[in-house]
Formats: sequence, structure tokens, C-alpha cells
Amino acid sequence: FVHQLADESVGLRELLRSPLHASPAPALPLPADLYGPSRRNSGGVDLAEEAMLDPLLRALASTTVPVVPMAEPGDVAAAVAAARTAFAGWSSTPVERRGAILREAADAMQRELPHLCALLVREAFKTWGDAVAEVREAIDFLRYYSRQAERLMQPESLPGPTGESNELRLEGRGTWACISPWNFPLAIFTGQVAAALATGNTVVAKPAEQTPAIARETVTLLHAAGVPVAALRLLHGTGETVGAALVKADGIAGVVFTGSTEVARLIARSLADRDGPILPLIAETGGINAMLVDSTALPEQVADAVVQSAFRSAGQRCSALRLLCLHEGIADAVLEMVGGAARELACGDPGRLDTDVGPVIDATAYDNLRRHVGRLQREARACFPPAAPREALPNLVPPQAFEVKRVADVAQEVFGPVLHVVRWSGDPLALVDEINSLGWGLTLGVQTRIDSRAQAIAARARIGNVYVNRNMIGAVVGVQPFGGEGLSGTGPKAGGPHYLLRFCAERTVTVNT
Ligand code: GLU
Repeated sequence: FVHQLADESVGLRELLRSPLHASPAPALPLPADLYGPSRRNSGGVDLAEEAMLDPLLRALASTTVPVVPMAEPGDVAAAVAAARTAFAGWSSTPVERRGAILREAADAMQRELPHLCALLVREAFKTWGDAVAEVREAIDFLRYYSRQAERLMQPESLPGPTGESNELRLEGRGTWACISPWNFPLAIFTGQVAAALATGNTVVAKPAEQTPAIARETVTLLHAAGVPVAALRLLHGTGETVGAALVKADGIAGVVFTGSTEVARLIARSLADRDGPILPLIAETGGINAMLVDSTALPEQVADAVVQSAFRSAGQRCSALRLLCLHEGIADAVLEMVGGAARELACGDPGRLDTDVGPVIDATAYDNLRRHVGRLQREARACFPPAAPREALPNLVPPQAFEVKRVADVAQEVFGPVLHVVRWSGDPLALVDEINSLGWGLTLGVQTRIDSRAQAIAARARIGNVYVNRNMIGAVVGVQPFGGEGLSGTGPKAGGPHYLLRFCAERTVTVNT
């Protein structure tokens, strides 16, 4: 079993043969054009072809990460001014034309998939499996938001008294500051920018300073597809300098941010302190995400879901499992399987096809994790001895797990493949209350064979995405709208039908006829 589990989670060959996401294809008939060739089972390019491997490997051999010059805080005003000037033209471009441009960019991404994957491997240390999934997600965002905008932005006639016509119209708001993270440097970057552009806004984007080359490549591709150069401006730099200046800049119409709760608060404060219009903030932050496992759960299914959720992407997803709550009756069986499987995961060079866990993003992240693991080694019990990394590379953290006493012992989100485990017994809803009281609300896993219990837990949890009897990562655009509440974000959910509304001004026009 352990070997089977490890094999399932390793290697591009395996990934390309199996469904991308653990969940089955959506049962509902979705409009075909929301799901073009980037998705499996939808026709178009079939990545399951063995022939895809050669272009990927060739791209890796020929891709180096270019050095990208950083902006100065002083460059921000000019970028915002240019994007503001471009707003009149872009917002009055028909929504169908804007959508066609974004779908043209999606097609270009599909063509450039090997090169984009290679950049993700080289710059963000993504494994091949994660890189392919991320390019597909970016493509999905472009297609989904472009079609959603076309649907939403049609003027709507509202019933009114005789002699009066009433119309509700959605319009772009102006220039959005899009501030995106390094952990999905292509998908989240593209998602934010596509949402703003589809709705007629212009953009000044500030990607994470760790991953500027991927952002630059994406912007080049969007410009080539027809987004006016001034309507999408890119500023590289740190959050403390360029990001802070962008949020304060005169003329922005809103901020969309994915990153830490701490920085989301700083942005909210900065927006609140501004004179002039009250500006919207869309923030998607982190989570101490729990999985609640009761005594009826299937240990094999739990172990697979835990390994995927806690250790895939080196635990560097905001949706990742941090706190595994195991019922006493099943805890030992599950931990043995998780330990066996985790030790089989290959931790090493992300350029190799059979690597499961690559390095964490940088030395700062590595040092943080090392300190956190040091504390856990003193204060908690290690569930299994971590396997040694396969190669001697910097910033490798092998998957590991520690048993702590209480839910409340896990107070801080630490971004990496380090799992905390608690044992529980008694009322599962009381455990949900404890999880709720942490204040985070991004993802929750539930493993039980009692359907009514799963429903009761989902109803009690103040958590944005609840996954029952499966892993709890990899939300699919248009299928699992993604985003949290409480400390985890403001909403609306990315990849969902309401996301674009926040990017729009709503105007009602009443005419006495
Ligand atoms: N959408 C991703 C997922 O479902 C997580 C996004 C993030 O880590 O910011 O795994």
C-alpha cells in the first residue's frame, strides 16, 4: 500500500495518466467554452500523451531564469497614471472583445505550457506535476472570467412603473492594484489580472519579489494577445517598498491581494487612512486548516488525503492541511500509514520527474521552518522520523509530523510540509467549535462514513471550503470557488460566480419615458 500511495503521488508520467484533481469531473453540465483544452476530458490537447514529456524536458534544458530589474517606489505614480489614462479606452472596449483577447492569451499559455512549466520549476521550485496543474489553472481563470464578464456585464432591465425604464449596469471601477504571492506565481497572478481586465478595469500588478520572471512572461503574453500595454503595467519590487507605495498611490480604484493576514491588515489600514473615495480590498490570506477524522473513516483514504494535502507543493499552499485531528480509535492506524507514505516521498531536485517535494521558496522560509521544527522537537512528539532529502540542495524540508496536545497549541500558520496532529474523542461538533475558535476559515477536511455527520460538521464550520472524504487542496476554477472567511480573507471566492462583482461599480439608470 505504501508503495502504491507513494507511486500515485510521484512523477509526471503518473500524473499525466491520472485525473489532474482527485475529485471526479463535475457532474453538472458546464458550458463547454468555460472548459477548453486546458482541462482533461474536454477535448483539445491531451497532456496524457507520452509525447508531452519531451517538450517539457527540452524546455527545462533551455530555460534559465532572467534577471528582472526592480522598480523604485518612485516609479509607482507613473505606472498608475498610465493605467488610469488607459481606462477610458479599455473600459469602453466591448466586453466580448476583452474576453476574446483574454481567451487568446489562454491559447498562447496552452502553446507555451512547456516553457511556462520550466520557468515555474526553475524560479518557484515547483515540481513538474504542480507546474502543469498551475498552468492549467491560469488558463482556466482566463477562460472562466472572460465568459463570466460577458454574462454579468449585460445591462439588465428591471421592472418598474409604467412610464419609467430602469436599467442596472455593471462597469469597471478604474485601475486596480493586483498584489500576488510567490506560491502560485502564475495562477493567482493571472487570476487577479484576468478578473480586473475582463470587467473593464486597468491594472498595475506587483507580483512577489521571489517570482518576477514568471509574472513578466505572463504580462508579455497578455500584451501580445491584445491587452493594451498601458492597461496592464507591471512593477517588480518588495511589498515593503513598491507594494506599500502602490497601495497609497493616488488614482487606484481598489486592491486585490493574496498573501499573509498581517499584510492584508496593513493594506486595509493604509486604504482606511487615505483621503478621497473609500476603496475596496479583496484579500485572500492563509489558514490553519484542519482535517477532522472520525472513527468510521477509511484509514487508507485518510492517509492518501493527508499526504496530498499536507505535503504536496511542499505544504506551500494556503489551503494545505496543517492540523490533523484524529479520533483516538483510528489515530495509530492512520499515523502508521502516513508515516510510511511520507517517508517514500522523494524530496529533492524539482527538475527531476520523480520528485514529490521540492525546496521551499527561499532561505527565509527555510529558517522559519527550521526554527518551528526545533520548537516542535522540544515540545511535541515526532510521529515518524523524517526521510533524508535525496539530493543535497539548499532549502529542502522533508515532510514531517508532530503530535501536539490541543488544537489551540497550533496558533501560527507556518508555510511548509510540517503537519500537526491532535487526538480527539467525544463530540465532533465540539471539536469544530474549537477549530472555529482559532479564527481562521479557509479549508476544512472531513473524513467520515456517516453522511449526516459530514453535513452537520460542514454546517457548523465557519470555513470557506469544506472537503469531505478527499484531499483538501487544488480547488478547480468554476467548480470549487475558493476563498475563506475570518482571518483567512474577505471574499469573494476566486474562480466563483460572484468574484467579478467586487471589481465592478453597479449603476442604476432610471429614465422617465
Ligand atoms: N487554490 C489553491 C488550492 O486550492 C490554493 C491557493 C493558495 O495557496 O493561495 O490549493
